[in-house]
Amino acid sequence: MNCHFALCILHFKFFMKLAIINGRVIDPSQNLDGNCTVFVENGVIHDVAKAKRPTNGYEIIDAKGAVVSPGFIDVHTHLREPGFEYREDIASGSKAAVAGGFTTIFCMANTNPVNDNASVTQMIVKKAEEVGLLNIFPVGAVSKELKGIELAEIGEMVKSGCVAISDDGKPVMSGHLMRHALEYAKTFKIPVVVHEEDLSLAEGGCMNEGRISTELGLKGSPAVAEETMIQRDILLSKLVGHHVHFQHVTTATGIDMIRQAKKQGIPVTCEVTPHHLVLTDEACRGYNTNAKVNPPLRTAKDCQALIRALNDG
Ligand SMILES: [Zn+2]
Repeated sequence: MNCHFALCILHFKFFMKLAIINGRVIDPSQNLDGNCTVFVENGVIHDVAKAKRPTNGYEIIDAKGAVVSPGFIDVHTHLREPGFEYREDIASGSKAAVAGGFTTIFCMANTNPVNDNASVTQMIVKKAEEVGLLNIFPVGAVSKELKGIELAEIGEMVKSGCVAISDDGKPVMSGHLMRHALEYAKTFKIPVVVHEEDLSLAEGGCMNEGRISTELGLKGSPAVAEETMIQRDILLSKLVGHHVHFQHVTTATGIDMIRQAKKQGIPVTCEVTPHHLVLTDEACRGYNTNAKVNPPLRTAKDCQALIRALNDG
């Protein structure tokens, strides 16, 4: 299997002239997939060519057996700093991201203290600059301390560098708060990023509600817990006329509602995780705790719908 070789321009700025040779260059935006040489001068790509060989004066990186692509972007990461540095910090998270081919990441607000005000945002931005390995964009909290009661200092956070707001893995249960979050976010031209889970419907659920949860005797969280919240936020997005981004969508019905909303011109977008594309609740058999994730792994029918949605955009 080819290892991934990310094109991280940030690292090349120290070379005047650089050529990456022998790599399989993949760039869907340029309709490119083939063995090419990438020429970089002063940190900027100035040519990607099939037959051309670098002349003298180039630093050479031999990418034989590797894929050369534009840097990946991860819109949902946790750098854990401040507060949980024993798990991860901005420096270690940056190194891990770059090693995996990511050149831009967004970090969630569930730090301690929570990134719900300008001082925490400023600290993250400053540390990210000091580490300087990749682009790090902080996502501020929707609500103070992620409690879902009172709006965070959205304007101050945006001024300090936040590019979106999200209560991370916590749903914004109050429709009233969500509406106001959207209105504020609209003023500052940033998306509201949501985890959709009606906690009263999902209560006590540790896996998808269905045949397998019944067989295992485990309490399930029904697909409808996610879908009712998606529908609510599609309607709020339409009402306010502002961008809602749905994180880790897992159900066929949910993805279909988002597809229909997009067709109507409602400003919504979404994402799926790799594990929800390839694993089902069958993975929970044997009480396999590795398969215990939130949102839960769903059914094969849901996986197929998510793959179709990924393909049709
Ligand atoms: Zn998260």
